[in-house]
Amino acid sequence: MYRPGKGKTPRKPGPKKASNIEKDPVGVYCRIRPLGTEDEECCIEMISSSTIQLHAPDGLKANRNGEYKEMQYSFKKVFGINTNQMELFEDVAKPLVEDLIHCKNGLLFTYGVTGSGKTYTMTGSPGDGGLLPRSLDMLFNSVGPFQAKRFVFKPDDKNGMEIQSQVDALLERQKRDSQPLVPKTPSSRQKADPEFVDMISPEEACKSENVDDDCCYSVFVSYIEVYNNYIYDLLEDAPFDPIRPKPPQSKILREDQNHNMYVAGCTEVEVKSTEEAFEVFWKGQKKRRIANTQLNRESSRSHSVFTVKLVQAPLDADGDHILQDKNQVNVSQLCLVDLAGSERTSRTRAEGSRLREAGNINQSLMTLRTCMEVLRENQMCGTNKMVPYRDSKVTHLFKNYFDGEGKVRMIVCVNPKADDYEETMLVMRFAEMTQEVEVARPVDRPICGLAPGRRHRNQAFRDELSRRLEERGGPSNADDPILLDPLIESLPALPPCELMDPADDQTLPRLIEVLERRHRIRQMMSEQFNKSASTMKSMLQQFDGQLGAKETFIHDQQSKLSEKDKVIISQRAEIDRLEKKHKTLEYKVDILQKTTDMYEQDKRSLQQELDTRAQRLQMELSERRRMEQRMQGMVTDTKLKWEKECERRVNAKQLEMQNKLWVKDEKLKQLKAIVTESSSGSRPAERPEKPERPSRERDHNIGKKRSASPSPLPTAPPVRPTHRRSQSAGGEKWVDHKPPSNLDLDTVMQPIIPNAIKVSTPNEKALSKCHKYVLRHQELASDGEIETKLIKGNVFKTRGGGQAVQFTDIETLKQECPTAPSRKRRSGSAEGPAQMDDTENRAPVASTSLAVGYQKRRKP
Ligand code: ADP
Ligand code: MG
Repeated sequence: MYRPGKGKTPRKPGPKKASNIEKDPVGVYCRIRPLGTEDEECCIEMISSSTIQLHAPDGLKANRNGEYKEMQYSFKKVFGINTNQMELFEDVAKPLVEDLIHCKNGLLFTYGVTGSGKTYTMTGSPGDGGLLPRSLDMLFNSVGPFQAKRFVFKPDDKNGMEIQSQVDALLERQKRDSQPLVPKTPSSRQKADPEFVDMISPEEACKSENVDDDCCYSVFVSYIEVYNNYIYDLLEDAPFDPIRPKPPQSKILREDQNHNMYVAGCTEVEVKSTEEAFEVFWKGQKKRRIANTQLNRESSRSHSVFTVKLVQAPLDADGDHILQDKNQVNVSQLCLVDLAGSERTSRTRAEGSRLREAGNINQSLMTLRTCMEVLRENQMCGTNKMVPYRDSKVTHLFKNYFDGEGKVRMIVCVNPKADDYEETMLVMRFAEMTQEVEVARPVDRPICGLAPGRRHRNQAFRDELSRRLEERGGPSNADDPILLDPLIESLPALPPCELMDPADDQTLPRLIEVLERRHRIRQMMSEQFNKSASTMKSMLQQFDGQLGAKETFIHDQQSKLSEKDKVIISQRAEIDRLEKKHKTLEYKVDILQKTTDMYEQDKRSLQQELDTRAQRLQMELSERRRMEQRMQGMVTDTKLKWEKECERRVNAKQLEMQNKLWVKDEKLKQLKAIVTESSSGSRPAERPEKPERPSRERDHNIGKKRSASPSPLPTAPPVRPTHRRSQSAGGEKWVDHKPPSNLDLDTVMQPIIPNAIKVSTPNEKALSKCHKYVLRHQELASDGEIETKLIKGNVFKTRGGGQAVQFTDIETLKQECPTAPSRKRRSGSAEGPAQMDDTENRAPVASTSLAVGYQKRRKP
């Protein structure tokens, strides 16, 4: 809170800077005192280390029909009836003293109704010292060895501290010592004052471990009392007139240049030990008591503020003297406040008169409550209401703790007795509210920039110097009688110089002679001394020169050392930074490790799944292969079986066909024989080369004799998919081949082909002129009727120069007799050699050079 260099008391932080200032709530603790007598009714129960519960006393419950509920209140910590002063100090005040030593301000106050143990907590009793003597003790145990000489630091009466040289301080000390003592207040009870040794046992002594020993410290204490909104200095040394005692003068509050409030003209006593400080405190305490008695005041209605100011300044680079730089002086303070009783009624006088209650409310505490409320509201709701600090001296004095920075702690003292119940409830409400107020955390004091360890090095140097001097026989002392006596003895002794007789002319000349001799010896000795002195002087000068050189050397070394120290400090900061970074990185690594673990687990399970699937696939594959092999075996088996079966069937069919053929041949032969027999006379064989070809007549005649079989269809007939008839023939030239054996049937569907060359036997000449060829072929259908087939084909030239016909289409024209029983005959009969013949025999007719289609058909 104190900027180094101001040497002032609490400093207000500049105009509201930023909201990033760290804040801490006011630390509120609760201390429950034991009941006066065991059998008293207790209305407070400690239910945890931080919570208490208030029970309404029995009488009250009965009065208000159980309207009072059991209420719970929480604190930073609750100290039960068995808590001793030491435990309380460790938790509550020790951190504040620690802060004080490290240039941070603190405010500690006790709050509660009269008789709840506020004074006991703050001051304590002999053998059971409270927070105040313990804090002083800890402070001096910590900074004691590093204290500055008295008057090195001097209050400047403007709430600041001045620094003066050791010599000036010494002079001032001597001046003060020579002044007649201010007459002390006559006190018959002086001996009854408790001494510090009575308060704390030595084994309870405690100490801060991190005191900067490169600083010099001074402790100043002040003690004021606020009564009825007037401030009185309890340490003021006013001459006391026992006959006509003057009422004490009240003090006023002022604001210093840093906008901190202070009591103007308040005595600040520099103390060098716990005992001295405690003595000063006790002096103030006594004065307070006397004033209260004399002025008939009620002590429970006054607030007492004991302030411990710690001034510190760094040692110079040599570690020998305090740095004479006011800017380097730091001041921090700890205020220990024992507030007035918070009850609304004055217990001593208020015998119940409710009307007087309101008037007796302690205005300062009211203001304190209001200030806390407004502060809390401003902080919680972001409002900017004016906090009425100025309404009372106490709040005005503490303004900087709440507006500026520092640590604020409050101990709420409660008496669990039933009588206090209602007041205690109010105290609890105030405590709860106060806990929600936040105070800016004090910032760390910057380092002065000089190398640490200066005091230690200086001490080591001094020790070494005195050790060496001792080795040389120690410092000489010329006035020592042991040295002087033999010198005097070496001089000639004086003769007796008593003059008895006026005519004595021997004594005087003898004396003169001896004295002259002595004079000569003295002169000789003096010369010798001067000679020795000059040698000594030159030696000293030489030594001084050497010392100077050594000093500059030491100075150089020290500056080097300080540079190194600076480097070390910066490197330490770097190390800190790196360590922090390291920690964050470790944290990250940790997280990543966890993530990796998770992924790895996932991977493992997926791998497992993959493996099982692959295995299953493998199994399925091998199963399929087995199946395939089995199927292949079956297929080959079946194939072989069928092949054999087919072969067997083909062979059987062939055999059958051969048989049939043979039968047909036989029949044909017979028929031929018959035909030749019957027509030998009338019609000579027109084409003896084709006797097997049945004529139309024959067909007609024999039609009834043989059973018709369906004409074998060409296996691959050259049939055109588009069924074109006469109309398409218009543009093409046709050869209309009508065998002479054809009968003229009176059918309606007779093809008329225009421009056709009609032939009964196809010849080369006719074919060469045409592109198309049609054969009107008649045969006996299976039902015994004559069927005319129009076998059509394309004519094309062969390579050999001939003509070939490729059959493309067959049209069948058939006449049917509606009465003819045709179905039976047609279906089952396998006969029809004549027709087969017809077909077979048509081929040579169709073409002079063989058509491919025909050739194929003839083969089987
Ligand atoms: P206050 O200052 O609040 O008016 P005091 O501190 O004077 O109250 O306490 C009143 C009495 O109670 C004193 O005699 C004191 O010794 C005693 N007392 C208070 N608190 C305790 C405690 N925690 N243990 C023992 N005695 C206590
Ligand atoms: Mg008290």
